[in-house]
Formats: sequence, structure tokens, C-alpha cells
Amino acid sequence: MACYAAGRRPCLAQSWRTMYGLSMNEAAHETRGDTALVLFSGGQDSATCLAWALNRFARVETLGFDYGQRHAVELDCRATLIDGIKAIDPGWAARLGEAHTLAIPTLSAISDTALTREVAIEMGEGGLPNTFVPGRNLIFLTFAAALAYRRGVRHIVGGMCETDYSGYPDCRDDTVKALQVALNLGMVRDFVLHTPLMWRDKAQTWALAHDLGGTALVDLIRTQSHTCYLGERGAWHDWGFGCGECPACRLRARGWGQFAAMDVGQ
Ligand code: ZN
Repeated sequence: MACYAAGRRPCLAQSWRTMYGLSMNEAAHETRGDTALVLFSGGQDSATCLAWALNRFARVETLGFDYGQRHAVELDCRATLIDGIKAIDPGWAARLGEAHTLAIPTLSAISDTALTREVAIEMGEGGLPNTFVPGRNLIFLTFAAALAYRRGVRHIVGGMCETDYSGYPDCRDDTVKALQVALNLGMVRDFVLHTPLMWRDKAQTWALAHDLGGTALVDLIRTQSHTCYLGERGAWHDWGFGCGECPACRLRARGWGQFAAMDVGQ
């Protein structure tokens, strides 16, 4: 816990150690009975994170963002995924709480990227694809923390990953840890930002879904979650719907192929 001198600001050294140094294992001992807020877009990663949180926390709320993304269809997938998740496990159904949506139209107004504009997806300067929306995850997590603050929720879960990703710097573990410190200092809370996929590649994310909810959850995520940056739902592949060509589709397809080759009793 952060130390407080009477009536003074939190002791920075102590709060830094508490907020920055809290390992996932240490945090695990404190999660039973707590509520979590899961960043839930309707994609493969966030659907897996939702199941992960439902196995870990007493109550789970979800938060999606409408920011003018071309793949806004993924927001429509959320209700279907939530219905499916409830059907898989009555315990999960009992623990699911409110589903929040926040509109952030400002994000598309200030970013000129292939995620929010009708332009081709290609590699840009610095090795980043032009799907990069600067600071998107910083903004998402900050809004999530503000909502969590208001609702008295301590745990925030996001699908950020730096193992099998497009190089977005705001997905990196160090970025998320630094933001956790900033949020806790700025809001005088002890939020824990959980990123269960950070060190998993896409195949391992499918395997995690299998561990959490078996073939039923894998099939639900495969058929009902949305990943494609172009927002295409028309073309069916064995890994799900999508254009099959954008970076997100290629990552998902490769991960599914690797997972399908594993012996996990599908
Ligand atoms: Zn695609």
C-alpha cells in the first residue's frame, strides 16, 4: 500500500515500489473478490482477456471504444461474444457486469491513419504500419482508469502484447507499466493494469482460450470475434472472418495455423 504521511502527498518511493514493482504473482493473491474492468473491443485478444478475467475476478465489467475506426464492426461482435461466453459457463454469466461503451470521436479527428481513413495499409516511417494511431492505448487505458475510478474498480485488463504485434510502442510492457505509475500518481489510486497476453504470441493466445474455456470458447472466438482492420466480415477462413491480407488478418491466420498444429485436443 502507498504510505501517507499525515495530510501529505503519498511517499513517492514507496508508492513507486508498490505500483511499479507489483508482480503479476503478487497481484494474483489480491484479486479474489475484486472487480475488474476489461478493455473489450470484440477482437480475439480482448475476448480471450475477458475469459481470463472471468476466471480470476468476482465481478467483471467491460469497456469498448467507438473512435471512428474502420473496423467498427468489431463493436457489434461484443454482444454476440458476451452471449456466447455466458452460455459456456454459468459462473462466467453470474460474474459479468455492466458493458460500457465510450465514444472518442476526437481520436479519429486528430489521427490520420489507415485505421480511421479510407487509405491503403502500408508501412510508414520508423517501421510502423500506417495503422498506428498515436498513443491509442495510452488514451484507452486513461479513459478506462477514469471510469474505474468512478466505479471503484481497481483492476484493469487489456490485451496489449509485444510478442506478436505490429510494433506499436504503446503496446509494450514498459509503456503499460509506466502508465500504471502515472495513473496511480495522478488519481491517487492503486490500479493494477493486467496484460495477460503481453508475452504470448497469437498461437499461445488461442491456447490460452482453450485452457480457459475449451473448444467451445475457441470456436466462439474464432467465429464471432473480429480482427480485420478493414472491417471485412464477408470472407470466411478457418481462423475467422476477414480480408486475409491486412496485418491483423495475417497475424491471426498465422497464429491459428500454429495453434491448429498443436496437440491441445481440439
Ligand atoms: Zn483484414
